[in-house]
Amino acid sequence: MRQILAGTTAAKGMALGRARLVQPSRYLVDTRPLNEDEVDVELERLHHALDTARQELRELRGKLHGALAREVNEFIDAHSLLLDDPELLRGLDDLVRIGHYRPGAALKKQRDRLAAVFEAMDDPYLRSRKEDVDQVISRVISALQRQTSREERKLAARVGEILIADTIAPADMAHLAGAGLLGVVASSGSPYSHSAILARSLDLPMLVGARDALSTIHDDDLILLDAERGEAVVHPTAQDLARYRAWQREAAAEGRRLATLANAPTRTRDGVDVRLYANAEMPPDIAMARARGADGVGLYRTEFLFLRQKGLPTEDEQFIAYRDLVLGMGGLPVTIRTLDLGADKADAAGLVIRGEDNPALGVRGVRLSLRYPAVFSTQIRAILRAACYGPVRVLVPMVTQPDELIAVRTLFKLARQELKRENIDLPEKLQLGAMIEVPAAAINVRALLEHADFLAIGTNDLAQYVLAADRGNDALDNIYNPLQPALLRLLAYVITEGRRAKKPVSLCGEIGGDTNFTALLLALGLCEFSMHPSQLLHVRDRLTSLDHAILRAHAPRILRSRTHEEAEALLASITG
Ligand code: PEP
Ligand code: MG
Repeated sequence: MRQILAGTTAAKGMALGRARLVQPSRYLVDTRPLNEDEVDVELERLHHALDTARQELRELRGKLHGALAREVNEFIDAHSLLLDDPELLRGLDDLVRIGHYRPGAALKKQRDRLAAVFEAMDDPYLRSRKEDVDQVISRVISALQRQTSREERKLAARVGEILIADTIAPADMAHLAGAGLLGVVASSGSPYSHSAILARSLDLPMLVGARDALSTIHDDDLILLDAERGEAVVHPTAQDLARYRAWQREAAAEGRRLATLANAPTRTRDGVDVRLYANAEMPPDIAMARARGADGVGLYRTEFLFLRQKGLPTEDEQFIAYRDLVLGMGGLPVTIRTLDLGADKADAAGLVIRGEDNPALGVRGVRLSLRYPAVFSTQIRAILRAACYGPVRVLVPMVTQPDELIAVRTLFKLARQELKRENIDLPEKLQLGAMIEVPAAAINVRALLEHADFLAIGTNDLAQYVLAADRGNDALDNIYNPLQPALLRLLAYVITEGRRAKKPVSLCGEIGGDTNFTALLLALGLCEFSMHPSQLLHVRDRLTSLDHAILRAHAPRILRSRTHEEAEALLASITG
């Protein structure tokens, strides 16, 4: 009988295929305590399973080639690092040796502990790293189970199948996509996860949070995955299939049309030029940004370099990453954001202040960088050296008041003097910009503009601080809404002040790449958008259908809205 399962779209698209279920192995662990004389044997089994998991990741790496390999190897490396994490391993050994946990139960316990740490994080992206832990631990648990059951790993979808799982590791997804997988329905997970990001770049439709998927769907059920609507239809009817065929025809035509926009100018219907920049963290983002005609990189989040490895990256490691980014953009401007660690983004090197009562309001972003001038200066030196290879702008995160920008400028000046003494090439003067993501910075933006060469509005954080609503807490969906009038008025104010000071203002929060907000941002006067490169063509396309002058004329009415519902209705009536 036809059934509909609702989920959250992580990657758009539709697919029709047979279901292949992968039951989460971590639920099947044996929780009886070990006898003392079993401990050594069980520890050996645990280490053998860890080795098997490491070997599997190495094999997966070997199977992937070309662009896909470049994209996925980062994830495989992240998982391999987790498998070698001394804290994780020590914890596991202690649980078996001292706590007398069986290896499976010890793995589950460690998974739960780490999950609690990640869940408490502020940033939805980092919170979604919990999935990496899940996936790594599941891999080890299934290796353990195979030692006794000799059963083959079931994650082997075939051509024409849709994977129904609790969660899926990015490396597995890449491998299965290469083997003909059509789509993924995950019962947990978030659209911010690595897997979701990968599904979007692989063009593989994916739903997350389809809670009852594993209990409702059976192996070989016919599934129509409709990630356009955010649902999976089990046993679709002829009518559903007709809808799918219509979508296929439209998607093919749409793909051909969007591809022609890669080299087209970014211009509104009434001829106003708009700049589209890419938010980039990894090399594949840079390739995609170029291929889709980005005007440059509007946000390069350097903290990911610090989060991926155990110690602090050296000056040379940072220099190479930044230089490659600059070279990759082939002469287009690149905006490197200085370290935005702190609060949820805790590094392994221990820079972040632990145990703050309220870390989201604590020592994060530039506040943290200024606490560690030596670490910050190393980053500044690396940026200055990389800037000899192409146009670079520097963006400072979490700015609250002018003295922070003044201090950063001073550190840049000192680093220049140092490099000069060392006879190292120096670039021309770099533009220094402020992220506007703290309400005080937005309200007092005039003072900041005296010290900043440009502004980049970070709506992800600005919204959470203006609304006092955690950006990743889905219980606050009705409050955390980008159309909240208080937020709209602040955005309009910052954009207007930037314009008055004749300094560029871009916006690099998630709404910059969401076509639902393109008209709104244009109405508020924004002319520079920065977004994940996968969104570039969509936003460019949307802009060609919008009339800048008409939207600008509506701005005062939009800004008079009293609720986000009112703003939404008004916007819908304006854009038809
Ligand atoms: C933002 O806050 O909108 C932003 C772009 O920065 P991040 O998402 O890295 O905090
Ligand atoms: Mg931010």
